[in-house]
Amino acid sequence: MLKIRNINSYYGNIHALKGISLDISEGEIITLIGANGAGKSTTLMSISGIVPPDSGDILYMGNPIHSMSPDKIVSLGISQVPEGRRIFPDLTVMENLHMGAFPRTNKSQVSNDINYVFDLFPILTKRRNQPGGTLSGGEQQMLAISRALMARPRLLLLDEPSLGLAPIIVRQIFDIIKKINSEHNTTIFLVEQNANLALHVAHRGYVMETGKIVMEDSADNLLSNDDVKKAYLGL
Ligand code: ATP
Repeated sequence: MLKIRNINSYYGNIHALKGISLDISEGEIITLIGANGAGKSTTLMSISGIVPPDSGDILYMGNPIHSMSPDKIVSLGISQVPEGRRIFPDLTVMENLHMGAFPRTNKSQVSNDINYVFDLFPILTKRRNQPGGTLSGGEQQMLAISRALMARPRLLLLDEPSLGLAPIIVRQIFDIIKKINSEHNTTIFLVEQNANLALHVAHRGYVMETGKIVMEDSADNLLSNDDVKKAYLGL
């Protein structure tokens, strides 16, 4: 589904991505783990077109997307849930969801999809007329995921969905992420600092250190790898 080949990205003099290559197959949950500043968010933003790579190729369904605008990339079926959620705080839950469906013209499909996200996150039904900014952190994360789903992505990019949330809420959100993958055939690329959690939902994982991929394997093998245990699982 997605092939990243040897991408390099710079912020001024900072060489943030140093020849990253990775593959995502349709139907997978892939996680990218690594410490603060390793380059995980930059990798995600290079796929969504927010930070286009300075060199290298990104192919989606065989077609190059690394020079496309973010809105074009969304229209091809790739949506990103940004770190820190970034919902529209002054818009209601419903209005936030409609913003996610902004380019779509088939109103009855859009209303079906609103029902789909309300089924996934029933609490949002209750909050439908509240401004997004009045929601709890967990509810805002649910809204951010729902807003991205309103674009009907085939590939969903999630940046640190667990950030700042209580463990019980994180478990709920990760159960739903698994459901979105298994019941709705949405491929998921999950960036997480919480490696333990991420490797428990993912099929495969990549480990990133200072701009490079240093390891890739099945999630089970990474969970039992001594280096991963020591560096990322606190064991
Ligand atoms: P975090 O978990 O803290 O978000 P990360 O693994 O996602 O970390 P990135 O945010 O991709 O890492 O950052 C990679 C490198 O690029 C870091 O050295 C970071 O300081 C630098 N960087 C990221 N964004 C910018 C920016 N807008 N301007 C300058 N440097 C940046």
